Amino acid sequence: MKGHAQVVVVGGGVVGASVLYHLTKAGWTEVMLIERDELTCGSTWHAAGGMHTINGDPNVAKLQQYTINLYREIERISGQSCGVHLTGGIMLAGTRERLDWLKMAQARGRYLGMQLEMLTVEEAARRFPLLDTRHFVGAMFDPIEGHVDPYGVTHAYAKSAQIAGAEVLRHTRVLDLKPRSDGTWDVITDRGNVHAEHVVNAGGLWAREVGRMVGLELPILAMEHQYLITEEVPQIAGLAEQMHCIDFEGELYLREERGGVLIGTYERAGVPWSPIETPWDFTQSLLPNDLERIAPSLEVAFQHFPALGEVGIRKVVNGPFTFAPDGNPLVGPIKGLRNFWVACGVMAGFSQGGGVGLALSQWMVNGDPGSDIWAMDVSRYGDWATLAYTNAKVRENYSRRFRIRFPNEELPAARPLRTTPIYDRLRERHAVFGEYCGLEHPLWFAPTAAEAREDVTFRRSNAHAHVAAECRAVRERVGLIEIANYGKIEVTGAGTEAWLSGVMANRVPPLGRIALTPMLNERGKLIGDFTMCRLEADRVLLIGTLAAETYYLRWFERHPPPADVRVRACAREYVGLSVAGPEARALLQSLTRTDLSNTAFPFLAFRRLDIGMIPALVGRISFTGELGYEIWVTPDYQRALHELLVTAGAERGLRPFGARALNAMRIEKGFGNWTREFRPIYGPYEAGLGRFVALEKGDFIGRSAALEERASGGERRLISFAVDATDADAIGDEPIWHDGRVVGWVTSGAYGHRIGRSLALGYVPAAIATADAGFEIEIIGERRPAQRLSACAYDAGGARMRG
Ligand SMILES: Cc1cc2nc3c(=O)[nH]c(=O)nc-3n(C[C@H](O)[C@H](O)[C@H](O)COP(=O)(O)OP(=O)(O)OC[C@H]3O[C@@H](n4cnc5c(N)ncnc54)[C@H](O)[C@@H]3O)c2cc1C
Repeated sequence: MKGHAQVVVVGGGVVGASVLYHLTKAGWTEVMLIERDELTCGSTWHAAGGMHTINGDPNVAKLQQYTINLYREIERISGQSCGVHLTGGIMLAGTRERLDWLKMAQARGRYLGMQLEMLTVEEAARRFPLLDTRHFVGAMFDPIEGHVDPYGVTHAYAKSAQIAGAEVLRHTRVLDLKPRSDGTWDVITDRGNVHAEHVVNAGGLWAREVGRMVGLELPILAMEHQYLITEEVPQIAGLAEQMHCIDFEGELYLREERGGVLIGTYERAGVPWSPIETPWDFTQSLLPNDLERIAPSLEVAFQHFPALGEVGIRKVVNGPFTFAPDGNPLVGPIKGLRNFWVACGVMAGFSQGGGVGLALSQWMVNGDPGSDIWAMDVSRYGDWATLAYTNAKVRENYSRRFRIRFPNEELPAARPLRTTPIYDRLRERHAVFGEYCGLEHPLWFAPTAAEAREDVTFRRSNAHAHVAAECRAVRERVGLIEIANYGKIEVTGAGTEAWLSGVMANRVPPLGRIALTPMLNERGKLIGDFTMCRLEADRVLLIGTLAAETYYLRWFERHPPPADVRVRACAREYVGLSVAGPEARALLQSLTRTDLSNTAFPFLAFRRLDIGMIPALVGRISFTGELGYEIWVTPDYQRALHELLVTAGAERGLRPFGARALNAMRIEKGFGNWTREFRPIYGPYEAGLGRFVALEKGDFIGRSAALEERASGGERRLISFAVDATDADAIGDEPIWHDGRVVGWVTSGAYGHRIGRSLALGYVPAAIATADAGFEIEIIGERRPAQRLSACAYDAGGARMRG
């Protein structure tokens, strides 16, 4: 055992082994994997080994494609077979909604280069003869599906890494991890210590416990999962190997296993395993079978696939594996812990393990994951994701694994958790709430309590008419929205302007003013967008995305401010309300002595002022694109502020509005959102943010890449489209066609109520970004004509918001 390593990877499951391999592939060869028993002895060894490319997030789907294509490479290097069976897979729809879902998945697959094929039920039955056609309405075929041998894959990764110089220590348990002041680590094991520059927690079933060694409570929970293997099924004897099959409505997955069929299910009443502490003596172990728990699913299996009811059961497997609350992995560096990385919560190790290893190794070696992995980034969870929250959400997610999540569907578990002081006031006004980072926020307002629920659908819902009325109120009079769900970071101290100028692409605004700014990484890609509000000479409030608060702070740790600058998150200290619409100024003026005229308090002004008796920070800005104000107060004042605005607003026809209306209005204005239009795969000029990049101000992170992008024009352009839609609008991730070819993808879509048209924002190649005709957007399997708009759809000159 060497006493020093550049990296120690804790955990020899499929994920740790993949990380080790990818580190060597990226050129770091003085790396060591420490496994407390044998490789695969956690959740890996008993996995069904299934792999597939489909994922709700296109960027994760790409990494899944990468993983599957990797198996031949590690087989070749290691000489170890991965037992790849690329059978192809079929996904069965039992309802019209599921068929719509499959069509949308197929459409998304088009720009990812996936060859997905829609099938009739009869065609599906020809390819998978075990199904009873009466239970299905259609299907989709994916040629890139199959299964692998978990042992073979893990050892192929490990051997490939060893060939490149990595060390693999078995039967060695990491007992503790101690940081040194220089950012390196002492890895304390039961067989001696290793001094490591970096540590990766790939502890799988024990990732939570490894996290606790460094004071980290990772949002992970293991669930029991069962599959069974039948005796040989005569109906498939002598046929080519049966393909994989997912029966969504039956909540089942199936594949052939030595002449029999492997059937697995994600039962509704799933059972967490070791919810508080994972036992260390659980090694290459299984849990007792509980066929009763999955009996309802098996009954469905025997109806949908009758031949399975006629054969006996050869084997039952019940094993645990881990999930994060949203079912996606937790990957990346941890804020506040130097050189400590995680690669855990991977619930589909054989589809995602390769992509996770690739992204993490790139991040460690090059300082950047190399692709857009926001959906897997560990920083998307904050301290609100406690053990109990994770327990509730993981159970919900597990039970819904094969159920449709409609785009307008809000899930009930762990709610309400975080609420603002006016939560009950908003409820009294029949708000329908959404949850974001554990925080409740109003989506729209119903006229009565009985109507305050939304039908979930891919099409326009019962909320449509009410959202229309909210947008009308904002356009014609004045609307009031709660805006507590933004991230806020305060930067103070003498060096504030100089430091911010180096990390943000725009200039820091003068005193009392607001400036919008992108934040770029070294590659010149968008990693954030902020409203910078200069409250004092040495005090700037950054307002950005709540979910990305930890992500931003982690970035600031890498680009630390000098000693005279203090950076701190303060989202909880300021809750907000915003008034917007032509009457907004008159309304606010009636409540303050400060002159709000356009000359005294112009567009993009930001001041501290009193509204009634309430001290507030007020910005002359609105995401609606109307004349508007954002008002920030400490939570103790929020009820009084709300009361004041509602009372004073009554005579002006003030109407509450929610996130749905705001989304529709910002799309009308062509305003982008982080995680939709703004992501680390786009540059600022591509995203239409070029006017917020102050290239002449001096150096800042990403400047030289931004200069290049400006010179070259970038690869793509963000475009506004008016879509000839019927009863369904684009929601995001639909393909954009041009002259019969898929050329891009939608980032957001909604019905623009102020202009009476269905709208979409999306990226297309720069070369066709000015084409006037030939665009179509595919919505639920139908290519709808789309007109490229040369400017945003609403008030392109900005007269209304500046007025
Ligand atoms: C029944 C079942 C069926 C499944 N089917 C599929 C499937 O079809 N397809 C699919 O993709 N996935 C499937 N999975 C999930 C898959 O098993 C996981 O995604 C995968 O195993 C995760 O791998 P891991 O490396 O993160 O974790 P683990 O396999 O749990 O590996 C973690 C390793 O870390 C070691 N370790 C932890 N702490 C320490 C320490 N302190 N010191 C040293 N070593 C330590 C452990 O001993 C262990 O070997 C299934 C899981 C189950 C239970």
